[in-house]
Amino acid sequence: MEELKNNLGKILIAGPCALESRLQLRECVKALKEDGVKIIRASLWKPRTSPGWEGLGDEGIDILLEETIPHGLIPATEVIYAEHVEKIIRELKKYGTDATAVLWLGARNQNHLEQQRIARAIANSGMNIYLMAKNQAWHDERHWVGICEHLLSGGMPKDRVLLCHRGFCPGLLPNPREYRNLPDMLMAMRVQAKTEVPMILDPSHIGGTRDNVIDIMLEGELYPFDGMIVEVHCNPDEALTDAKQQLKPQRLRQHMDRLEAVQ
Ligand code: PEP
Ligand code: MN
Repeated sequence: MEELKNNLGKILIAGPCALESRLQLRECVKALKEDGVKIIRASLWKPRTSPGWEGLGDEGIDILLEETIPHGLIPATEVIYAEHVEKIIRELKKYGTDATAVLWLGARNQNHLEQQRIARAIANSGMNIYLMAKNQAWHDERHWVGICEHLLSGGMPKDRVLLCHRGFCPGLLPNPREYRNLPDMLMAMRVQAKTEVPMILDPSHIGGTRDNVIDIMLEGELYPFDGMIVEVHCNPDEALTDAKQQLKPQRLRQHMDRLEAVQ
C-alpha cells in the first residue's frame, strides 16, 4: 500500500468522473501531476441512474493507460464485470509485469458472485492491481463489511484491498445540507477497524456540489481516513457526468496546500 501514498502519507486519487477524451484527460493529468497527485481516476464504464452517455468503454482503456503510466502515474477506474478486469489486465501487461493500477467496485455493484469473480481475476493475474470497494448505496454496516469479505474470499490479497466511503442514499432521513449521499463517518471508522484495510473518503459523491465537496473534505479531516478520492475536471460545467460536483484542479490544490500547512 505504501506505493499509493503521497508525501503526507495519504492515498490521494483524483481525476475526472469519466474519461471523455484523450485531450480532456491529458489536460487534467498535467495539472494534477504538478500538484503531486500520483493516482489518476477516470471511469470508462459509467453506471447511470437514467439512460444516457455510458462512458468510452473498451476504447478508453488505452487512453487511460497511455496518459498515466508513461508519466509515472497510477491509473484508477471502476470495473463492473470481471470481463472489464480481464481487458484491463491484457493492456496493462504491455507495460511490464510490475505495472500498477487501482480498480474499484462502485456503489451499485452488489452481486457478490461478480465481486468474487473480479477478485479472482485480479488475484490470478499476478499483476500489481489494488482493488477498492465503495460502500453500497443503502445504510448497512454488515453488508459493507461483507463486500470486503467477498473480495478476500475471492482470493484478493488483503494488502491490496481498500475501502471507500461515498455516503448512503438519503432516503427519508433529514438532509438539511442537501448532500447527494449522507455520510456516516463513524460507521466508516468502525468498518476500517473491523476489516483492517485502508478506508478512504469520497467527498465528491457525498457532497454532490462543489461547495459541499469542500465541506466534506474538511469534515473528513476530523477522522483518521487513509486518504481521499476526488473528482477533478478542468472544465467541470461541460462535464458529461457529475458536472455539479467536479472541482477545478486549482480548488483541490488550495485544499492540499492548506493540509500541508497544518502538518
Ligand atoms: C464514481 O466514482 O464516479 C461513481 C459512479 O461513484 P459511486 O459508485 O460512488 O456512485
Ligand atoms: Mn462520478
